[in-house]
Amino acid sequence: PPPAGLPRSPDPYLNIDAGTMSPFEHGEVFVLDDGGEGDLDLGNYERFLDVTLTRDHNITTGKVYQSVIEKERRGDYLGKTVQVVPHVTDAIQDWIERVGAIPVDGTGRRPEVCIIELGGTVGDIESAPFVEALRQFQFRVGPENMCVIHVSLVPVLGSVGEQKTKPTQHTVQTLRSLGMYPTMLACRSQSMLEGSVREKLALFCHVPTDHILSIHDVSNIWRVPLLLRDQGAHRVIMSTLKLAPRQPLDMRRWEARADRWDALEEDVHIAVCGKYTGLSDSYLSVIKALQHAAIATNRRLVIDWVDTSELELPFSDVNPQRHAEVWGLVKAADGILVPGGFGGRGTEGKILVCEYARTNKKPYFGVCLGMQVAVIEFARNVCGLAQAHSQEIDKATPHPAVVFMPEGSRTHLGGTMRLGARRTLLTTVDSITAKLYQAMDSFDERHRHRYEVNPDMVPMFEEKGLRFVGKDETGVRMEVIELTGHPYYVACQFHPEFKSRPGKPSPLFLGLLLAASGQLSQYVHGYVEESRSRGGSGADVAPAGMPGSPMM
Ligand code: GLN
Repeated sequence: PPPAGLPRSPDPYLNIDAGTMSPFEHGEVFVLDDGGEGDLDLGNYERFLDVTLTRDHNITTGKVYQSVIEKERRGDYLGKTVQVVPHVTDAIQDWIERVGAIPVDGTGRRPEVCIIELGGTVGDIESAPFVEALRQFQFRVGPENMCVIHVSLVPVLGSVGEQKTKPTQHTVQTLRSLGMYPTMLACRSQSMLEGSVREKLALFCHVPTDHILSIHDVSNIWRVPLLLRDQGAHRVIMSTLKLAPRQPLDMRRWEARADRWDALEEDVHIAVCGKYTGLSDSYLSVIKALQHAAIATNRRLVIDWVDTSELELPFSDVNPQRHAEVWGLVKAADGILVPGGFGGRGTEGKILVCEYARTNKKPYFGVCLGMQVAVIEFARNVCGLAQAHSQEIDKATPHPAVVFMPEGSRTHLGGTMRLGARRTLLTTVDSITAKLYQAMDSFDERHRHRYEVNPDMVPMFEEKGLRFVGKDETGVRMEVIELTGHPYYVACQFHPEFKSRPGKPSPLFLGLLLAASGQLSQYVHGYVEESRSRGGSGADVAPAGMPGSPMM
């Protein structure tokens, strides 16, 4: 059976979680099934290990202190002086042990290996309690149960391009002075570590040469696990942890995926029209979901970033040239995506994008806010309600197409976000969405929003050709829209990007790429034919309009 890896990510910041952090500053907020809001590392673990994590898998300084202070207030410490050592460090270790037992791979079994990512840099004031907790943890679990991998940078300097080992030597020294002795070094560098550099590191850092991993630049991210395998990382980890291999290591899918990505030739341009376009980490899961879908459809993905405030009218007066350029990107794209977002800036631009995509039959996919703007555009331009808007942006709009619909309190903002996995029921089998989701009656996707399509206006929208093909269990919350007579005008209230995995592209992202590359109708027909003869379907999706054939 596959060993179930369990990642954890102690983040040495005082925020309780990443939910309140700006995507400009910290990259995207990654949402988990249970509604936990973590930073983007959690997404990388879920995607690479194909696991499903919980909010407790993300440990932050804020959460640990909160739990210690709560215990103190309850009187659990029985009058003792509460200190960082041992109380905070004990709390960290207890937390790790507790969370380490949670099944994450869908088998319901307790994981055998737990990955603890200690974020930050050794020597930081913020990470000190975590380093101390893990130092103690070595004794709690015994040396045969702990493998310490130190990640460091090997910069290349000077005109001869010499690989410098000094930063690694220094951080290893610092780590050792804190009582942590690295079993392995993972050295991030531009090119493969030279033999002499490896030897120098081994000598000065007190690790055997075969425990030093060269993590150099590769052509795509899926080569990284192959890089680790080629250097025998798994063998060192297993022998350190005294684990016996149960099956030969089979990474053919990773190899095929990495090779295929590099060999893709035909471009597909997707205009991603949002607000945080300056920092692509703000949309990391969206990018990943587009990549998964691009491989599945045999296209080389080109993302054209569009800041929608530059599409708006006032901007055209300030900088007409840029305005025209950016509209050029939107018009030339094969498909358009409007991702999630908060607040008003750039909203009118997004509405203009929707109008363009709708009237020009350009494949469009809207996620969360991307669905809300599509509905507002429809209300304004098809239903003739020129002042239609979302209550998030225009509280006093006479035609609230998108309204505040918390699951709990209607009067308090805090904790009123609809967060985590919720069910969508498909209202018909006769929709692109149903075909892309392979005609399941329902599915669960992750949410993160406060506002929703106004259910009172739905009958009017439907009459004018906007279909609500997915709804929640009550039928009151709209989850997926499609436009009649358009090749692909699809948007959803949830964030499907969080569950997209390599080899299992998210259905609606796949739909966008299929439509953008002219393969959607072939896929949809093929799927219908296939499912008739197969009587069902597997998780993998067909590449390049060849329904049912295996893909990576
Ligand atoms: N701001 C919108 C809401 O709260 C959309 C949220 C999002 O796109 N994640 O409903």
